[in-house]
Amino acid sequence: MANSKYAYVRNFELPDPLLPGTFMLFRLDGHSFHRFSDQHEFAKPNDIRALELMDHAAKDVMTEYPDIVLAFGESDEFSFLLRKSTTLYNRRESKIVSTLTSLFTSSYVLNWPKYFPNTPLKYPPSFDGRIVLYPEEKHIRDYFAWRQADTHINNLYNTTFWALIQQGGQTATEAHATLRGTFSKEKHEILFSRFGINYNQLDARYRKGSVLFREEIPSDDLVATGTTVTESEEVLEDPEVGGSITSTQGEKRKGKSKKSKQKQTRIVLDHCDIIKDEFWDTRRWILS
Ligand code: ATP
Ligand code: ATP
Ligand code: MG
Ligand code: MG
Ligand code: MG
Ligand code: MG
Ligand code: MG
Repeated sequence: MANSKYAYVRNFELPDPLLPGTFMLFRLDGHSFHRFSDQHEFAKPNDIRALELMDHAAKDVMTEYPDIVLAFGESDEFSFLLRKSTTLYNRRESKIVSTLTSLFTSSYVLNWPKYFPNTPLKYPPSFDGRIVLYPEEKHIRDYFAWRQADTHINNLYNTTFWALIQQGGQTATEAHATLRGTFSKEKHEILFSRFGINYNQLDARYRKGSVLFREEIPSDDLVATGTTVTESEEVLEDPEVGGSITSTQGEKRKGKSKKSKQKQTRIVLDHCDIIKDEFWDTRRWILS
C-alpha cells in the first residue's frame, strides 16, 4: 500500500504483547451497574433475568473464542480464563481486551429483550475489561476461589440485608446497622430464626455464581441426542434448559474449514463449587 507522508504517525502506536506461556485472566465488570440495576428495576437481592443474560453473553464470548476454557460470573462481572498457550491476536493486550469486552457488551444488548421483554433499555450499558497474567496453576485456582468466596460473602450479606427490609420492615439504614460487625454464622441465624430462610437451600446460582466450562462430548451423547454435529461445529448445552443448540464455531465463521480431527466440545453451565479440589481434579484439561 502506498505510504503517505502522514503514515509515520502509526509509529506512535506501541506494541503491547502479553508475556507468552502465562495464563491470561480476562475480567469484565458492568460500569455503574448500581445505577443501571436501579434504572431497570432489577429485583433485589438477585435478579435472575439479569444473571441469565450475563451467562448468555459469556457463553457467546466463549463460543467465539475457543481458547477460553473456563468462565465464572457473579453480579455484573465475568472472568474468563484463556489457555496459557493461546496466540489469540498475537497476545496483543488491547486488541484482546477491547474485542472481548465489546463482544460481551453487544451480546448483552442484543439479547436484552429476551430476558427483559417488558423493560426497554433506557440507555446503552457498558463494561470495563482488563487482563491479568498469572504464571502458575495455583494462582488460577486461587483467583477463582477468590471470586467464588466473594460471591458467597456478598450474597449472604445481600440476602440478609434484603430480608430485613422486605420481610422485616427495616429501612436500609436500620438493616445496615443490624448487620454491622456480624459474622457469617449470625447472618445465617438471623435468616433462619427471623425469616425461616435456610441459606444453604437457596438456589445454588445465587450462592455459587455461574461456572461455564468446555468439555468433550462423549460420542454416546451425540447419538443419544440425535444431534448431527460436524467436526467444525460445537454444541452448546444449557443443562438448566436441557436444550442444545448447534452453533458454528468462531474459526469456521472466519472461513477456515477444519477437516482435522478436532474433538467436539460443548460449553456447560453449572453452579458448582470451584474452590475445592474436585472440580479441578476431574477436569485436568482446564489448566493444561
Ligand atoms: P463500577 O462501575 O465501579 O463497577 P458498579 O455500580 O457497577 O460500579 P459493582 O461493585 O460492580 O458496582 O456492583 C454492581 C451492582 O449492580 C451490585 O452492587 C448490584 O447493586 C447491582 N447488580 C448487578 N447484578 C445484579 C443482579 N443480577 N440483581 C440485582 N442487582 C444487581
Ligand atoms: P483488525 O481486526 O486487525 O482491525 P480489520 O479487517 O478490521 O482487521 P482494519 O484495518 O480495521 O482491518 O480495516 C477495516 C476494514 O473494514 C477496511 O479496510 C474496510 O475494508 C472495511 N470497512 C470499514 N468501514 C467500512 C465502510 N464504511 N465501508 C466499507 N468498508 C469498510
Ligand atoms: Mg467494580
Ligand atoms: Mg460494576
Ligand atoms: Mg461488579
Ligand atoms: Mg479493524
Ligand atoms: Mg480499522
